[in-house]
Amino acid sequence: MTVATQGDLSTLTSKELHQLIVNKDISVMELVELFLNRIKQYDPQLNAYITVVQDKARAQAIEVDNKIRSGELNHPLAGVPYALKDLFCTKGILTSCGSKMLSNFISPYDATVYDKLNQAGAVLLGKVNMDEFAMGSSNENSYYGAVANPWDLSRIPGGSSGGSAAAVAAGLAAYSLGSDTGGSVRQPASYCGISSIKPTYGRISRYGMTAYASSLDQCGPMARSAEDMALILQTISGFDVRDSTSANVPVPDYSATLNEPLTGLRIGIPKEFFADGLDADVAKVINEAVEQFKRLGATVKEVSLPNSHLSVAAYYVIAPAEASANLSRFDGVRFGHSCDAPTNLQDLYERSRWEGFGDEVKRRIVIGTYALSSGYYDAYYLKAQKIRRLIKNDFVAAFNDVDVLMGPVTPTTAFKIGEKSDDPIAMYLGDIYTLPISLAGVPAVSIPVGFSDNLPVGLQIIGDYFNEAKLLNVAHSYQQVTDWHRQSPSQFTGA
Ligand code: GLN
Repeated sequence: MTVATQGDLSTLTSKELHQLIVNKDISVMELVELFLNRIKQYDPQLNAYITVVQDKARAQAIEVDNKIRSGELNHPLAGVPYALKDLFCTKGILTSCGSKMLSNFISPYDATVYDKLNQAGAVLLGKVNMDEFAMGSSNENSYYGAVANPWDLSRIPGGSSGGSAAAVAAGLAAYSLGSDTGGSVRQPASYCGISSIKPTYGRISRYGMTAYASSLDQCGPMARSAEDMALILQTISGFDVRDSTSANVPVPDYSATLNEPLTGLRIGIPKEFFADGLDADVAKVINEAVEQFKRLGATVKEVSLPNSHLSVAAYYVIAPAEASANLSRFDGVRFGHSCDAPTNLQDLYERSRWEGFGDEVKRRIVIGTYALSSGYYDAYYLKAQKIRRLIKNDFVAAFNDVDVLMGPVTPTTAFKIGEKSDDPIAMYLGDIYTLPISLAGVPAVSIPVGFSDNLPVGLQIIGDYFNEAKLLNVAHSYQQVTDWHRQSPSQFTGA
């Protein structure tokens, strides 16, 4: 290795790492060894990885080194090591979904996103920790234990893609994929000081991404820069015959429009996102970021999303309802955990599910089943769906006047491990700024824009349907004139 030190390399973007490979400054194998060493050294403090696939990664590194050398492979992510949230199916590798229920589940097939990254020559380092079945906002609901925030080990990294965020923030992967049902890539990215994008619902195939709430679930890249997100999104987006909800909408060249000037960009600030409950320091950092956009030529006006305050109530009916149906397949027969010595079929179902699922998952199954049951369907589920439509209409109206919306990702910075674990309602309320976007199905990015008490603060930039290109352009322009996205937690750098 002729360039920089290990620590320096782990803070580079995927684009920069690929360039080092192309320039022959480093081989894919050296890069993979570097990340594997860092995982060994640092992950015991973080608990980000559930499975590390050393042998597979090394075998893939040899193959990719050869293909790059022979000119057979020139994809911009070729050779760059990454991690997958442990709900993406990976043939021959454990896919646990952070649950005891699937703690013995080896997938017989690959998720489409994994397949696409394999074809690109990206190198999988391992599968990362998450809230069980993606239910949570703190990564404390994992069968494999809580994950620590690399900026402060006593705090949560966010959830449910907490392992994906912590791994990238600490330099234990160049980028990762997470999933976002109600905020799970944006919120942990915000708490860990990295960038993420939740694309429009349908932009990325969900084939092989274990379902939580199917009308909301979307895969999302988590990375060090908007430029990296453009490359990853480009690689994994597009229609897939194996996912009937994937959209048959052309995928533009996201990298081509990153540098478009922001002159005349119309930014809307939803006033509901700055009401009571938003931490004053977080608000200050967000407002400073908005000022930066003005300096880049944007205009700013206040807008209203009048129904957004209903999003927590609507989401926490719709998501559990869909989850209760999706999780019925885990019955002790077809997948995963099966109880010992069942006395009959009913006993097999009941005890397998009782033993296999954790408390939060059980809570959601009960809420969801209740909301869908006859007599309550109209009162809860149907009503929540009607509210969902109102929330969607709010966004459609807002985008008649502005190009993007900006606001906080979360009301506060990362909280202490254990602080909210006994209070599900307080935990759910923290999702207030991410849920409306999920319910509407519009895309949004989260980018780091500063610190409050040494903890990262994320800005959420929300776009119109299928306009991810604009979001990446806006985020990239900000990252060209600021360096918040280049900050790394000192405890994990330089070694
Ligand atoms: N915190 C939300 C929930 O618990 C969102 C999770 C997610 O996006 N997967 O449902």
